[in-house]
Amino acid sequence: MADKRDYYEVLGVSKTASQDEIKSAYRKLAKQYHPDINKSPDAPEKFKEVTEAYEVLSDPQKRTQYDQFGHAAFDQNGPGGFGGGAGFGGFEGFEGGFEGFGDLFSQFFGGGARSGSRRNTPRRGDDKLITVRLSFDQAVKGTSVDIPLDYVTTCPDCKGSGAKSPSDIHTCQRCHGTGRVVTQRQTFLGVMQQEAPCPDCHGSGKTIDHKCDKCHGNGKVRKQETITVNIPRGVDTGNRIRVEGKGEAGVNGGPNGDLYIQIDVAPSQQFVRKGADIYFNLPISYTDALLGAVITVPTVTGDCDLTVPPCTESNTILKMAGKGVTLPNGKIGSQFVTINVKFPKTLNKEQIDLVKRLDEIENKKGTFFGLFKKKKK
Ligand SMILES: [Zn+2]
Ligand SMILES: [Zn+2]
Repeated sequence: MADKRDYYEVLGVSKTASQDEIKSAYRKLAKQYHPDINKSPDAPEKFKEVTEAYEVLSDPQKRTQYDQFGHAAFDQNGPGGFGGGAGFGGFEGFEGGFEGFGDLFSQFFGGGARSGSRRNTPRRGDDKLITVRLSFDQAVKGTSVDIPLDYVTTCPDCKGSGAKSPSDIHTCQRCHGTGRVVTQRQTFLGVMQQEAPCPDCHGSGKTIDHKCDKCHGNGKVRKQETITVNIPRGVDTGNRIRVEGKGEAGVNGGPNGDLYIQIDVAPSQQFVRKGADIYFNLPISYTDALLGAVITVPTVTGDCDLTVPPCTESNTILKMAGKGVTLPNGKIGSQFVTINVKFPKTLNKEQIDLVKRLDEIENKKGTFFGLFKKKKK
C-alpha cells in the first residue's frame, strides 16, 4: 500500500476535477488498459489501478475521505485507518485480479464482467465517521454525549435472509444457486462472453416463497436510535472513539461496520494545552516579583496555590507538577506558568522616594545586575 500512486495522478485529473471529468478520464483509461484489448503484461495491473482510483473519486463520500486522509483512509492498518474490517467502503474483489469490477464495468460497457464467486459471501458493513465538538472543559474532565443515529441494519426478524421462515428459501432454478447467468454480447470492444446477474433471483442464488413481514424481503431495516457515548477524560482534537457495530449494515449477513467519533476540542480562553501539559500566563505585581508571594492560580482541576520565589523575573516559567491534564491512558501532565511582571502606570511621591532609596542602596553595592553604566539623572 505504501507506494500507491495518487488517485488523481492515476486518472490524470486535477484535484478539483468535476465528476464528469473523472468519469471521462476513467472511461478513456479503462478502454486503453482493458485486458481484453491490451495484451501487455502490465495491463491488468494498470486497469486495476485506474478502476480503484475511479471507485474512490467517483464517490463523493470516499473522495472527501481520500482528500482528507489519503490512502490511509482505506488502509486497514495505516495510521489514519479505521482499524479492522473493510474500512471505508473497502475494496472487496480487487484481490481477485480482474474479477470483481463488474458493477462498475457494466456502467460503461453494458453487462457484467463480474464473477459470481464473491457475490454471496457475507461482507462487513462500512465504517462511519462523525465529528463531535467538545468544550475545553468537557475534553479535560470527560463527558457523555448523545448521538442520534439513523442507519440501515440487518433485519432482526429474518436475520437478513428476507424470508418469513428458513423453509421459504429455495435454490434458484434458473441459475442453480450461482446467482449468475452467462450471456454473449456485442459491445464496441467486440463480442464478449459475459456473466450477468441472474434475472430471476437478482444474483442472490435463492428464491423466497414468503417474504419477511418486517423487511418485506430485502433483509434490512432502517433503525433510528440515540446512543449515549462516554467520552473519557483527557481526550484531545483528532482522537477517535470507536463504537462497535454502529456503522453501516453488513451485506449478505455480514456484521455491521463500526462508528468512529472524532473529537474536536474548542480552545480555552485562559489555558493553552499541548498533550497532557497546560501553559498559563500569570501577571504579578513588581512588588510580589521582588518580595515573593503565594498566589492562587486556576488549573484545569481547580484553583491551586503557586509559590513565586523572591526576585522572580518576567518570563520565568514555574512548573506546577501534576496539575495538567490526565490523558485517557492515565498519563498526567503539568501546568507551566509564565510569569509576567507588571509595573504601575505612575508612582506617587512616597513611592518615588522609596525607589530612590532603593537605587542608592544598589549603587552603593555597585553590582546591580552587572548592567551597563548609566548617566547621572
Ligand atoms: Zn437465479
Ligand atoms: Zn426481515
